[in-house]
Amino acid sequence: MRNQILIFILIFLGLNTSSFSQKINEKELLEDLQYLSSDALEGRKPLTEGGKMAAQYIKERFAALKLHTQYLDYTQSFTFTNAREQKVYENAANIVGFIPGKNSSQMIVITAHYDHLGKRDELIFNGADDNASGTAALLAFASYFSQNRPNHSIMFVALDAEEMGHQGAKALVKDFPFPLEQVKLNINMDMISRNENNELYAAGTYHYPFLKPSLESVAKGKKMNLLLGHDIPGTGNDDWSLASDHAQFHLKKIPFIYFGVEDHEDYHRPTDTFENIDPDFYVAATQLILNAIIKLDKDLLVRE
Ligand SMILES: [Zn+2]
Repeated sequence: MRNQILIFILIFLGLNTSSFSQKINEKELLEDLQYLSSDALEGRKPLTEGGKMAAQYIKERFAALKLHTQYLDYTQSFTFTNAREQKVYENAANIVGFIPGKNSSQMIVITAHYDHLGKRDELIFNGADDNASGTAALLAFASYFSQNRPNHSIMFVALDAEEMGHQGAKALVKDFPFPLEQVKLNINMDMISRNENNELYAAGTYHYPFLKPSLESVAKGKKMNLLLGHDIPGTGNDDWSLASDHAQFHLKKIPFIYFGVEDHEDYHRPTDTFENIDPDFYVAATQLILNAIIKLDKDLLVRE
């Protein structure tokens, strides 16, 4: 009898820790967003001191989590020309971490751009929703998968210079450290921390309908509404298929899911600050996206 009780307790503890371990660390998530969108980082424009501070913060986290990488100091440096400013940006920096999969040689690439607009007329564009939110979620996922090894390899990329035309994503896809055929899926996050109607969008399933069932199953019964859409060609600005870094994967015919919210009154304004995000929405969105990645990591194995 005593043994049975002991076994029962062990099973109970086991179940408990496994469900608990799927949870993201909410406090750390919000602190990361707060730091990345703080005035000290001055809007994270590429190659500014603030942009470099953001890159350093992400690198230190990847190192603390003991992530692998294909690059020296987790950094893929790249150069591009900004036509509007007629300026060459040398040594812009994508920050790349990697966790080898346990059951597949193929990989999922998770992306979020960490750059934003910087300062204009002495006003700081903090970019809390756009896109400190996606970047902090990326760090949370790196933390989760460093403890829970995925089936597929996962590459975690904090991309630079999205606001100047997806420059970081272009550089990553152009000089990808593996054959691109090994990339099964790109998951991109850009603006995931607020919506008045409690709606988060997942765009991409119009082009890649095989991804639908996995997303629908994680969305079921959740307080937050995960809506599939904003990906139908010919619908103008309502089609987000090329709206952020996932575009560079889509153009190479690599399946993508883009998680994001509708534009809001603070979009690309100095008022996109930490105070104006919705912490409850953000935590729920991040948890939902993590659940989706865990589910897709499992479901995509069947297709190999
Ligand atoms: Zn953005």
